[in-house]
Amino acid sequence: MKPIHTILALYTVQMAFFAAIWLAMAWLRLSRRATAHWGLGTLLLAVGMGVVLARPWLPPGLGSALPNLVHLAAAAVIARGVRVFVRRPGVDRWLLAVAGSAGGVVVLANGLGAPHAWTVVAAGLGMGLVLARAALDVGAGLAEEIGPAPAWVCSVPMWIIAGLLSGRAALALVGVSGSGAPLDTGQARQIMLSLALVLMALMLHLAMAAMLMLRLIQRLRHLSQHDALTGLLNRRAFGQRLEAERARQHRHPAPMALLALDLDHFKTVNDRWGHAAGDAVLVAAAGVLTGAARRLDAVARMGGEEFALLLPGTDLDGANQLAERLLEALRDLTVDYEGTPLRITASIGAAVSHDPTEDPEEMIRRADRALYLAKAGGRDRVVCAGALSVIDAPSTPGEAASPRRAA
Ligand code: GH3
Ligand code: MG
Ligand code: MG
Repeated sequence: MKPIHTILALYTVQMAFFAAIWLAMAWLRLSRRATAHWGLGTLLLAVGMGVVLARPWLPPGLGSALPNLVHLAAAAVIARGVRVFVRRPGVDRWLLAVAGSAGGVVVLANGLGAPHAWTVVAAGLGMGLVLARAALDVGAGLAEEIGPAPAWVCSVPMWIIAGLLSGRAALALVGVSGSGAPLDTGQARQIMLSLALVLMALMLHLAMAAMLMLRLIQRLRHLSQHDALTGLLNRRAFGQRLEAERARQHRHPAPMALLALDLDHFKTVNDRWGHAAGDAVLVAAAGVLTGAARRLDAVARMGGEEFALLLPGTDLDGANQLAERLLEALRDLTVDYEGTPLRITASIGAAVSHDPTEDPEEMIRRADRALYLAKAGGRDRVVCAGALSVIDAPSTPGEAASPRRAA
């Protein structure tokens, strides 16, 4: 057995192994449709190379056409898997047209007994274009989800393989000697090409695995930071944002406001209409809060029917204005639950801090105390706790330093 046959046999085993891993992932429902495509495509790569190795036992025309057709199909299936992965699952006419016409030329060239170079040109260009499409899909389709730089890095192996395949096709087209020769001629150059093939395949699969892993990490991170019902930040993530804003306040002094919001008599919604109705109200209320907040504000569900908003760069007046707007929007909100119109109101406690050394927990406590005053004062209103220096003391309704009431 020549060295090149050993390399190609190892490549075939490697692809079969990768195919098994992708199919196992599909079985475990990890991005199932995409990994199933990648498993099938990789299996085709193994079969294609198996046919190359079996060439001596095949009729010449078939031995040249079949592996190229199988490799074209493999590239198309993997590229479609990429499209499914980046959520562009529809039938891609462009992909079909390129792979189909390249395959057609391969069949024709071999049927008519054309020089082998024609097969190399058609199959190389076809696979190159298909993989370039996949690379474009990864770069554009994943940028928002995992970040532009990681998405671009994941697309690099596809760009390189697309470039090499197209380059080989171009060389064969202009008739550079040897470029169109079959892989198994045993020359040193062909051995180098085969090693490059092994390396490229490894990079391609690492890139696909990285895409899967980065998506999983993003999902887990999102789950750990967000409330499952409303999609708002959870208490822990809100605490982290508060700490981060505190650190920023150290560097760029500016006021910062915090609103603690609690729905009024929410228990009666549950008692009267059921827990699912309560959930619908919570989701709708969360929508009102995010709709009113700016991009740089943080909106969180702290638990139950309690919410919090962190408003960087906002003073007491600004916080009060936003709180009034929120109360009004919630008052105007009608949640249609299975034909039943549900209405709610809320109470808000606002706290503003100009002092970056104040403990974030203390700021939350001040807002909570103001919220307690708003509840005690009759609900559906906002009470501002004022700046730290102004309101340190009050802890009972009668003592509020500068309570502001909703109109
Ligand atoms: P107040 O005006 O004083 O705030 O009265 P309230 O009824 O809103 O407050 P209370 O703390 O008595 O009741 C809160 C209720 O919120 C009790 C609990 O069953 C309900 N709740 C907590 N979490 C959820 C949830 O995820 N979904 C639903 N539907 N209800 C929840
Ligand atoms: Mg409540
Ligand atoms: Mg409550």
